[in-house]
Amino acid sequence: MALIINNKCIACGICASECPNEAISEGDSIYIINPNLCTECVGFFDEPQCVNVCPRGAIVPDPKYPETKEQLLAKKKRIHGK
Ligand code: SF4
Ligand code: SF4
Repeated sequence: MALIINNKCIACGICASECPNEAISEGDSIYIINPNLCTECVGFFDEPQCVNVCPRGAIVPDPKYPETKEQLLAKKKRIHGK
């Protein structure tokens, strides 16, 4: 399941540099996650790195994108080629 950033975000930018897939970017007023690139960090880390560093608790699962671990791993392979 891709993650989403909610309006608790203060646009500090810390999360963007932690993402192994470069899925996080600056939006109009808050940061945003590209669901095509977010893998919940599967294939790199045991936990979503952005969630761990966000000082506001602003990053949560997005129920619009239900995905199994296998699907997330396939997404990671599509992005990185391995
Ligand atoms: S969960 Fe991982 S892959 Fe998804 S946006 Fe956060 S750091 Fe990037
Ligand atoms: S770390 Fe949290 S508060 Fe900072 S930009 Fe990312 S989502 Fe927003």
